[in-house]
This record gives sequence, C-alpha cells and structure tokens, in this order.
Amino acid sequence: MALWITDECINCDVCEPECPNEAISMGVEIYEIDPGRCTECVGHFDEPQCVQVCPVSCIPVNPSHVETAEQLLAKFQRLQGPPAEAGSAGP
Ligand code: SF4
Ligand code: SF4
Repeated sequence: MALWITDECINCDVCEPECPNEAISMGVEIYEIDPGRCTECVGHFDEPQCVQVCPVSCIPVNPSHVETAEQLLAKFQRLQGPPAEAGSAGP
C-alpha cells in the first residue's frame, strides 16, 4: 500500500528529503505522496522512512492503494529502471 499524508501535516519539511523514491512533494497546501512512487520503502528500508521522521504521525497507509509486498517490490524495480546491459560499452 502506498502511504498518504493527512491534513494534520504541519509542513515541517522533514519527510521530503528522507524519501528514497522521491515520492513526496509539496502540494497545494500540504505535502503529498505520489502513490505511483511510494513503495512503503520496500527495496530501500525495513520501515517507511517518512513515518519514522514525521513529528505529528500524519502518514497512514492509503486505503485506496492496496498493494501486496510483491507489487511494492515490482514498483521499486520499475522505479529503478532497467538494469544496465552487461558488457555494453559506454559512449
Ligand atoms: S513510505 Fe517510503 S517511499 Fe513511501 S513516501 Fe514514505 S519515505 Fe517515500
Ligand atoms: S514530516 Fe509529517 S508534518 Fe512534516 S511535512 Fe512530512 S507529513 Fe507533514
């Protein structure tokens, strides 16, 4: 499941730089999480980093983006891009 930021967000800015997927950005009024980029930190960390640092605990799971661990891992791999081809010479 992707996570989402509720309107309790106080725009403290600490979560945005902690996200390994660049899923967090400033929205119209408060910070927002792009569900297409949030993997719950799967592939990077054992725990969601934004939840660890949020001082007001306003980042629950997003019930409209239910995903299995396998789907989150697939999203992580998609965000990483295709693996570099072995043996391919650089420019
Ligand atoms: S759970 Fe991880 S990937 Fe998702 S928004 Fe928070 S820091 Fe980013
Ligand atoms: S850490 Fe929490 S309060 Fe601070 S900007 Fe992120 S979601 Fe908002």
